[in-house]
Amino acid sequence: MTKVRRLIPQHPRMFRARVLRTERVSPSMHRVTVTGPELAEFPWLGYDHWFRLFLQLPHQRRLRLPEFTGSQWWPPYLAIPEDERPHCANYSVAGFRREAAEMDIDFVVHRGPGGEIEGRAAIWACAAVPGDALAVLDQGVLFDCPGDASEVTVVADETGLPAAAGILRSLPADTVGRLIQEVPTAADRRQLDGPAGVTVSWVVRRDSTAVPGVAALGELRRLTSADASGYAFVVGESALATEGRRHLHRLGLPKERITFSGFWKHDRAQAA
Ligand SMILES: Cc1cc2nc3c(=O)[nH]c(=O)nc-3n(C[C@H](O)[C@H](O)[C@H](O)COP(=O)(O)OP(=O)(O)OC[C@H]3O[C@@H](n4cnc5c(N)ncnc54)[C@H](O)[C@@H]3O)c2cc1C
Repeated sequence: MTKVRRLIPQHPRMFRARVLRTERVSPSMHRVTVTGPELAEFPWLGYDHWFRLFLQLPHQRRLRLPEFTGSQWWPPYLAIPEDERPHCANYSVAGFRREAAEMDIDFVVHRGPGGEIEGRAAIWACAAVPGDALAVLDQGVLFDCPGDASEVTVVADETGLPAAAGILRSLPADTVGRLIQEVPTAADRRQLDGPAGVTVSWVVRRDSTAVPGVAALGELRRLTSADASGYAFVVGESALATEGRRHLHRLGLPKERITFSGFWKHDRAQAA
């Protein structure tokens, strides 16, 4: 397999865009398609390409963005007064069409105990209408598969589904391995394009009150051997990422061959 280089931009660029359309792709996933002339230059690399999403606050009439040069966007962002500072959250490119300057962003719709939509980004996405302003700050690709990897293991909860789908689409056709993909409901499963040698195991959460990621971790723990010259990518709720990495390392996969990232943290206080 050819090496997939870990690509993180030295000087990340900000791209302004507007909402073009929205669509509920499955019960737990809301897609917002965005467009704008600047997006035609977004340096999309496939795989799990991700970005910081900037959203205006509900009371704002225009989106105020940090002005920065080089890589230092965080101090100028924090310097914006709190009541004008845009909301910032991390998302993956779910689809990109350069000729149309369009990007799809898939937001997990997660709900509180009363059924209300939770999370500032998901609330924004579910209420978004054509013309709404946003911006994306390019952050590159985390997937960092060595050129000699004998197999690839990808494990994700629903927040990692856009990344996992992008990885499967981007992998060389001769790749072998597996994807363990947890989703909240059976209707969130979908057809994924990828190499024939990569098996896809959907793990549907049976209990709607269960912590996301626990079921995928259980499925991963059924794996009792791992090729030491393989590569793994484990993302989603923080415990899935750290415990998943621990299990794969115990099976013999060296730590430097495992990319893991807590995409979000389950709020135990809230659950209680
Ligand atoms: C590199 C990267 C790529 C990511 N890509 C995607 C993506 O493509 N699609 C996507 O949906 N998410 C993605 N995420 C996860 C996303 O950034 C988090 O879910 C984030 O919390 C959403 O931002 P927010 O501002 O709505 O959260 P906040 O408003 O800060 O969250 C509010 C509360 O919601 C809880 N929460 C957050 N997410 C979930 C969830 N999924 N289920 C249940 N409770 C939750 C938090 O624990 C918190 O208590 C990605 C994260 C990273 C690091």
